[in-house]
Amino acid sequence: MVPTGRMAPTPSGHLHLGNALAFGAAWLSARAAGGRVLLRVEDLDRGRARGEVALAQREDLRWLGLEWDEETAPQSSRTYPLDGIPVFRCVCTRATRHILGCMCRNKAHDKGAWRFDTPRGLVQFVDRAAGPQAFAPDEDPILVRADGEAAYPLAVVLDDHRDGVTEVVRGGDLLSATATQLRLYQALGWTPPTWLHVAVLLGHDGKKLSKSHGSTELRALRESGWTPARVWATLGPLLGVDRLDPAQFTAERVKPGEFVVAEDGRIVGAA
Ligand SMILES: [Zn+2]
Repeated sequence: MVPTGRMAPTPSGHLHLGNALAFGAAWLSARAAGGRVLLRVEDLDRGRARGEVALAQREDLRWLGLEWDEETAPQSSRTYPLDGIPVFRCVCTRATRHILGCMCRNKAHDKGAWRFDTPRGLVQFVDRAAGPQAFAPDEDPILVRADGEAAYPLAVVLDDHRDGVTEVVRGGDLLSATATQLRLYQALGWTPPTWLHVAVLLGHDGKKLSKSHGSTELRALRESGWTPARVWATLGPLLGVDRLDPAQFTAERVKPGEFVVAEDGRIVGAA
């Protein structure tokens, strides 16, 4: 099978340095293996997803030098069947489930959200940078909301499988979510991809980089004179490279953890 990675932006805001780090790692890893890079727009959350942002994100990726071989169907155009997955319908509110516990598993409700009847116990896997990991999966996470909309764990597993993705490379904030996704792969009898989680970048306020850290958006950095080479020189130490060069890349040199980014885009140290 051709090694296949993917860059999967959510079009709810412009790309910032944290996105560049994750997509850069995905691109380097796939290219270093002589593989393909897919672009997939993760616009499940249609309310927040905006078309013009998706176009701007493509511009930013091209500016960074992160060309893709193929764009696969956006999530908003796909369907997410539950075939083969043990599920039950749940009518609990968040509060009643939290306080009383959910008793819906044996009730055969004809409405409500679809929850994954998740086998309990730790899930072990190897992260290509951080090494052996063990996390408990979320307890019976929602796979399809009461309004029929697929939830992220279902969508990402079905999409990666259907797109032929062999390596998932993404931000470290999703490291523990890997446990639930592996439970889905097990339920479906599918071979999971490999996993590599890069560092999480935090703003000067200690919060994960987001729209509220506008000065670390790639367009803002570009306007203040940054070049793509400067972006990669800045992020390179976290990726184990000094420029965007697949020949330099090995997953073992990627630095996991949390790092703080100053308002001017410099990485000022480990959190
Ligand atoms: Zn319930």
